[in-house]
Amino acid sequence: MNDVVVIGGGPSGLYTAGLLADSGIQVKVFEKKRSIGQDVLCTGIISKDAFQKFGLQKDSVLFELRHMELVSPFGTSLCYDHGDVFACVVDREKFDLNLARRASLNGAEIFTGTRVDDVEVSKQGVTVTTSSQQKGKTKHKARLAILSTGIEYRLHKKLGLGYPSHFINGAQVEFQNPKETAPRIMVGNKVAPGAFAWSIPVNDRRVRVGLITEKGAGAYLVKLVSQMHPEQGHESPELQYRGKVIAQGPVSPTFSDRVMSVGECAAQVKTTTGGGLYYGLFCSQIAVQTILQKMSSDSWTGSDLVDYEKEWKKAIKKELMIGYYARKVCSRLSDKELEKLFQLAKTNGVFPLIREKGHFDWQVDLIVELAKKAPVPALKALVRA
Ligand SMILES: Cc1cc2nc3c(=O)[nH]c(=O)nc-3n(C[C@H](O)[C@H](O)[C@H](O)COP(=O)(O)OP(=O)(O)OC[C@H]3O[C@@H](n4cnc5c(N)ncnc54)[C@H](O)[C@@H]3O)c2cc1C
Repeated sequence: MNDVVVIGGGPSGLYTAGLLADSGIQVKVFEKKRSIGQDVLCTGIISKDAFQKFGLQKDSVLFELRHMELVSPFGTSLCYDHGDVFACVVDREKFDLNLARRASLNGAEIFTGTRVDDVEVSKQGVTVTTSSQQKGKTKHKARLAILSTGIEYRLHKKLGLGYPSHFINGAQVEFQNPKETAPRIMVGNKVAPGAFAWSIPVNDRRVRVGLITEKGAGAYLVKLVSQMHPEQGHESPELQYRGKVIAQGPVSPTFSDRVMSVGECAAQVKTTTGGGLYYGLFCSQIAVQTILQKMSSDSWTGSDLVDYEKEWKKAIKKELMIGYYARKVCSRLSDKELEKLFQLAKTNGVFPLIREKGHFDWQVDLIVELAKKAPVPALKALVRA
């Protein structure tokens, strides 16, 4: 009998496994991909604070973000200078491998190329059925199973776990372009309706261009890249456009008898930007705290695990809700209204406010302050609500 089985070897699952193993808990992680970090679609932006908070290694950092150019629908450009590094762009493969290495050093066993096909819960424990090329079908018994399966929800319903009903569309392409040295965010209904696009250098030669939008992210991205970089040529084999949905939360429940869900599969993802790394690791810490508290009683019913959801919701539910509505309100703005906000930002001290109130991971205070300043009735109504 294992103590805990973690299903999914992305950042949330690996970080959870590492923390559990560090506390002497016997953990197995099953990852269906052949290797950790293989073919991940992500820009890799994570706040500077996260490195200290989660004890992350810095050798995966490719680029440090200190300033950001913001481009309006009509081409007005504003440059936000934070005065210091506020976030970093990481190599996701290396980032994930670092988390895996730490989990292994702490004693967790990680099995790649191993898909979890089924989880059965009984009073005695959970039985997890895996399949892999080497071992075929295998059954593993454990006290508890943690699902950290990203955007895969196949097992959730059967286990009584909630799953998101809403997603946004993400798409990205990475290519060589030594001229793109400035990180940039672009907004507008012709660029990325309902959200935004980005162009982020990852080192002095390559750039990641991507966007999130309610639907059709791939088509908008192809159009954007052809406008920004006509020299790239659309037939270039280097241009591999990739898309993926991003979960929007909050969802409930994220626990049931002998099971918990963490990370993107529990929609613990920023609803403003679609960033899931920080909240995934943050909620992993809460999941581990709950498990450690229950270890001595060895009782793993839903009511034993309810504290996990209470705690993570106390910490991030407001962020998820306000972020979601703020993005929704902004998504209804016309290009002219967006342009007005850019003109306002030029004149009325929005950037000092961002420097003072802005936090990369905790955005509610800034959203409220910005909404008070914005000449958009719907935003003001959001603050009043
Ligand atoms: C275009 C784009 C850009 C993004 N950029 C950023 C960014 O800059 N910053 C940021 O914070 N976030 C970003 N995100 C979101 C971020 O990538 C995810 O939120 C994050 O990877 C979630 O981590 P996770 O561990 O919860 O899930 P995942 O990283 O998805 O890991 C889940 C793992 O579980 C495995 N798995 C699933 N089912 C099974 C099974 N049955 N058996 C075994 N293994 C299984 C999967 O193979 C996968 O490896 C971006 C997303 C997109 C689409």
